[in-house]
Amino acid sequence: MLNKYEVVIGLEVHVELKTKSKIFCGCSTVFGAKPNTQCCPICMGFPGTLPVLNETVVDYAIKAGLATHCDITRIGKQDRKNYFYPDLPKAYQISQYDLPLCKEGFVDISIQGKDKRIGITRIHIEEDAGKLMHDLNEGTMIDYNRCGVPLVEIVSEPDMRSADEAIAYLKKLRSILLYTEISDCKLNEGSFRCDVNLSVRKKGEPEFGTRTEMKNLNSFAFIKNAIEHETKRQIKAVESGELIVQETRRWDAIKGESYSMRTKEDAHDYRYFPDPDLATIVISEDKLNQIQSELPILPDERKKTYIEKYALAADAAEQLTAQKQLSDYFEMGVAHVKTPSILANLMMTDIFKSSCGDEDEMNFKISPESLAEIVGGIEEGTLNPALAKKAMGYLMEEEGSVEMILKKYDLEVLKDIERLTKEGEAILEEHPRIVKDFLGGKAKAMGAFMGQMMKRTQGKADPEQTEKVFKDIVDKLR
Ligand SMILES: [Zn+2]
Repeated sequence: MLNKYEVVIGLEVHVELKTKSKIFCGCSTVFGAKPNTQCCPICMGFPGTLPVLNETVVDYAIKAGLATHCDITRIGKQDRKNYFYPDLPKAYQISQYDLPLCKEGFVDISIQGKDKRIGITRIHIEEDAGKLMHDLNEGTMIDYNRCGVPLVEIVSEPDMRSADEAIAYLKKLRSILLYTEISDCKLNEGSFRCDVNLSVRKKGEPEFGTRTEMKNLNSFAFIKNAIEHETKRQIKAVESGELIVQETRRWDAIKGESYSMRTKEDAHDYRYFPDPDLATIVISEDKLNQIQSELPILPDERKKTYIEKYALAADAAEQLTAQKQLSDYFEMGVAHVKTPSILANLMMTDIFKSSCGDEDEMNFKISPESLAEIVGGIEEGTLNPALAKKAMGYLMEEEGSVEMILKKYDLEVLKDIERLTKEGEAILEEHPRIVKDFLGGKAKAMGAFMGQMMKRTQGKADPEQTEKVFKDIVDKLR
């Protein structure tokens, strides 16, 4: 039944900008301060106060637009979006209605080697609302520190057709924004959060179905779950002849279910009108050029370089450029190695990944120079990948240089013929079958010998020398 249907997903992403002060006043935007210590009459919406636009907010929004291939408007305005909610003391939010700063861009994603382009409808600036905290014992409390923190809202086209595509788009978008350094995009602090618009239709049908919206999801795992659950719910409803209502739904991550919150408003419900307190935003050619020139090299471009200059596989290049910090790390390390692919392979091992910290804050426990030294060992043949991984494990847990760790744990490929011969003779004494098999022409005998040798030497034996030693011993037995 699921296969008869197609899911259609569009995403609205709210991103808190990393400006020092708020969008219309001088209050700090630092996260985690004591409640209601970072607000003033302007961001609290007292009568008689006047907002003054923080120009950096406009610069950052343009940066986001340029990084996602948008057209940048030259004339922008700001509008009041009217609604009452306790976390919005003015009873309106200053946003942008019909003249957003950026429109018609795109983000390219890659899923299992297949490329797809996701359209961006628009990017506009707006102010964040305060935060309601529901406490069972004390009731609901409001923290206004977040009121007036600058946001960009990035609205995608309904171009995604699966939860995996939606997640790939979000990760790519987050990666691009982190490269531009306009936001810290911390999921757990809510500075990167997502509304999911979702509908289903029978495959081949030209019209979209009625969509629902799930608001404020801030974990990739929740988003994937929520999309999969809502898709099934809608298909079941359509199949049983039920009408899908356009509504906002709340996703309960703990129960893994979504609930209807309210029927969805349309734009006209908000009675948008231009904010009379704020001047028109005019963006000059010079300004645009200046921001363009400040844009860093973005992930897609780095990926291309990694494939062309460092001869990495597309998949490795994609993984290493997905996060700016990871990509910066690779570039610091690659300056010290002869074979970039060895460095890339080590950086994609589980042991390395476990040393990087989480999505929000990368924190490497091994320096790029140390990892490059380990790569050097593999290049010279004194280390193999298994020993390299052991060395990385020790380096994560202990103080000390690579040289010290290698020495302390005797991590070096074993090439000593005398020692290998001794071990080899012991193996064949214990396993006479190996010799019998080998003389009987069974190719797997060599593999069995190699396995035993690795076991006895904790993975240190050099495969080439081991093979030689085996043949020498067997020759003498013939
Ligand atoms: Zn303020």
